[in-house]
Amino acid sequence: MKIVKIDHIGIAVSSIDEKKKFWLDAMGLNMEGTETIEAQKVTTAFLPVGESEVELLESTSDDGPVAKYIEKKGEGIQHVAFQVENIEEALAELKEKGIQLIDQTPRHGAGGAKIAFLHPKATGGVLVELCER
Ligand code: ZN
Repeated sequence: MKIVKIDHIGIAVSSIDEKKKFWLDAMGLNMEGTETIEAQKVTTAFLPVGESEVELLESTSDDGPVAKYIEKKGEGIQHVAFQVENIEEALAELKEKGIQLIDQTPRHGAGGAKIAFLHPKATGGVLVELCER
């Protein structure tokens, strides 16, 4: 498995609009619009930072995974995403090594990426996302 870089850091927020003040006005980052992924009940906004990005995640519904995360743990860092060269290969390798996966096969993420999550139980409490662009 070849990891290319840390692709992005996913941050759960109650309102992208509200948190924009900090990330854009105070930190000086740019936002290239938002994208809603209905299947995951989430609206995302990507803010490029050099070779990586900050991903703001706002739930579109009270029962979405991001809403549940905020309910349990509050707003903040929700996942760390690593870009891999070949996501199918990476998942097969991790599975072979006995790592518990949330997604057995990749699903569609924002920006046309293929993504898959590893189970936090297998990673020491970190929700790890793999993505291939
Ligand atoms: Zn992500």
